[in-house]
Amino acid sequence: MTPAVSFQKVSRHFGAVKAVDTVDLDIAPGEFFAMLGPSGSGKTTCLRLIAGFEQPTAGLIAIFGERAEGVPPYRRNVNTVFQDYALFPHLNILDNVAYGLMVKGIGKAERHKAAEEALSLVRLPGYGERRPSQLSGGQRQRVALARALVNRPKVLLLDEPLGALDLKLRENMQDELKSLQKVLGITFVFVTHDQGEALSMADHVAVFNDGRIMQVGTPRDIYERPRTRFVADFVGSSNVLPPDFVQRYSGQRRWGSLRPEAIRVVKSTRDDGLSARLVSANYLGATTRLALDADGLRLHAVVPAGTSLPEEGEALVLTFNRDQLHLMDEPA
Ligand code: ATP
Repeated sequence: MTPAVSFQKVSRHFGAVKAVDTVDLDIAPGEFFAMLGPSGSGKTTCLRLIAGFEQPTAGLIAIFGERAEGVPPYRRNVNTVFQDYALFPHLNILDNVAYGLMVKGIGKAERHKAAEEALSLVRLPGYGERRPSQLSGGQRQRVALARALVNRPKVLLLDEPLGALDLKLRENMQDELKSLQKVLGITFVFVTHDQGEALSMADHVAVFNDGRIMQVGTPRDIYERPRTRFVADFVGSSNVLPPDFVQRYSGQRRWGSLRPEAIRVVKSTRDDGLSARLVSANYLGATTRLALDADGLRLHAVVPAGTSLPEEGEALVLTFNRDQLHLMDEPA
């Protein structure tokens, strides 16, 4: 199947800064694809390369099999939703949504009809007469989405679109975006630095660091089978285990990772586990997160709320199933 977006050894350098560095990437048609990574890791630059706002310094980009170089943004069948929404304050909502169609020379009746449809899609029917200043942040976010969807792009690029919303609204919009994407079948490419958001929404996630892709996979792959310490650390809250430690349990001298929820904490001095002491306990509602010291190695465990907690400094034993210990590819 021809990928919706394909990068072959794509780089974008700004002077000495390698914003995007030799990236290979295939995004399948109709999927929800997340680009995840810390600030400055090159996610936005990748999005701008797909949109055509930026040109690669090396490599090839294709959109649905067509080479993208020389194709201006408005001819790419790609639209972007920006984090700050970029709505025109002096236009009403209907004209904001219809703007792209007006620029294309589509007549008023037709573009207003399409804009009404797009507003219904984002559950804002009848808001067309209002101005952006008369809407809440969440509603403005939906208008930005409607505006990007109005001319039915094949690929929708979303740059931290939920970044300005409060937590509750953010979670609602995550669900809505996900179901909208399924209904429309448009390829969504979503940039975020929030790992929870990427894992919960995406079909595939690319983890970026320093302009490079560290790993691409399903959320489960990325979470349960991180290939490097960076991915284990950035995605979730894995315990990264040093090679000497891993060797004792697996016979292989490799970096390992162990999810906090895989560790069982027993109050005892039995010697059939790893002896440790409690450093601190953080109450998180449904769970409590324990920081533990095992012979100088700092580990985190997560236990369900209501578990009777040890005292700080109390001697404990940690156990885990060996098959939960994940060995990473990164050389020791
Ligand atoms: P954030 O999450 O903060 O938006 P990001 O992962 O999207 O970060 P980019 O915006 O792609 O990162 O930036 C990657 C690197 O490229 C950064 O070091 C940035 O300073 C640099 N960069 C981006 N655009 C330019 C530019 N026009 N000129 C010079 N450097 C740039």
